[in-house]
Amino acid sequence: MIVRKLFHALPVFALTLFILVLLDLQLRTRSDQKPNAPFAHEKTPSISRTTAVTQHRDVVNDKQRPKRQRWREMKPQPPLELTDIFIAVKTTGRFHKTRLALLLETWISKTKDHTYIFTDSPDEDVSSEGFNIVVTDCPPEHSHQALSCKMAAEYDHFMASDKKWLCHVDDDNYVNPGALLSLLEAFPADSDIYVGKPSLDRPMRAQEMLEGNKTRDVHFWFATGGAGFCLSRKLAEKMAPWASGPRFEQTSAVIMLPDDCTVGFIVERRLGISMVHSNMFHSHLENLLLLVPSDIPKQVTLSYGWFENKMNSVELKGVFTKDEDPSRFRTVHCLLYPTTSWCPVALKSALSWNQHVLP
Ligand code: UDP
Ligand code: MN
Repeated sequence: MIVRKLFHALPVFALTLFILVLLDLQLRTRSDQKPNAPFAHEKTPSISRTTAVTQHRDVVNDKQRPKRQRWREMKPQPPLELTDIFIAVKTTGRFHKTRLALLLETWISKTKDHTYIFTDSPDEDVSSEGFNIVVTDCPPEHSHQALSCKMAAEYDHFMASDKKWLCHVDDDNYVNPGALLSLLEAFPADSDIYVGKPSLDRPMRAQEMLEGNKTRDVHFWFATGGAGFCLSRKLAEKMAPWASGPRFEQTSAVIMLPDDCTVGFIVERRLGISMVHSNMFHSHLENLLLLVPSDIPKQVTLSYGWFENKMNSVELKGVFTKDEDPSRFRTVHCLLYPTTSWCPVALKSALSWNQHVLP
């Protein structure tokens, strides 16, 4: 009799247990909250969406994380979307009209919601258009300290966001959002990735300052900031002890090098993780004419400028029609024919800033 009762109760018991496990799993996944931390770099607390990023993820003290990660790894990862990428653009007040406006007109118009502009001066024209502009407290200079200050702000804002990747670009970069997504989605989810292009053909050599006025030689690869680079969230979290708040600038001072070198130093030397070298990022230091036109749509970034006395633009005619990609068609068309009446004024100023001469 007792055995039969037990036999009947067994399925009910098993079902209850199953439901409890499911509930527990859901609760654990939802409880992924972030503790507070202030930003050291901002002049004003918010210009547009910065209120959404008032919290800071402190992984170092989060003892629960390994357990939660195990739960997360059990769940299938949703495919990466473009909006999962936090695109940080570094600029400065005097380049708002001559460089930034061109980007707003073109690729940023396609990535507006998840692109954040880090600058040193407020700009009502930009913020009133609904772009995410972050006015930092960084000096408007090209010094190591000033550039590292902006990179620190980019890092902190990314950490406070819910995005999966941080991609940094300069204000003379053209970003190809589709190619960026294709590049990043090829990496395994939740991996430690630092991807970009070195400007040197060998590792950077630096002197690391030690205590007691001593120094030591250090070698590491770094992705040149002028071509753009990306960091996965998992890796960015590991960088926190040397990159969050005032620490980024302190680390930059330890090697006496600018922001992009500092990122390479933290990833390769402090964390022992190797940079992924990619040929799809291009700074203005490169001769873009070396690219085969049919490869252009695959490139993640391009940049304009002078190279060996020639304008660093690429012959893109025919790659995109106006219907396929109106924004890119316009950029390219205007680079080739800047006097066309509908070319944006910003593009014309960018070109005149370069004292542009077309063949
Ligand atoms: N920049 C800045 N403050 C300055 C000068 C430049 O933040 O006083 C930014 C600029 O907007 C760009 C980056 O630093 O995003 C690199 O500047 P630039 O392209 O003029 O020089 P590069 O370092 O690439 O030779
Ligand atoms: Mn540049």
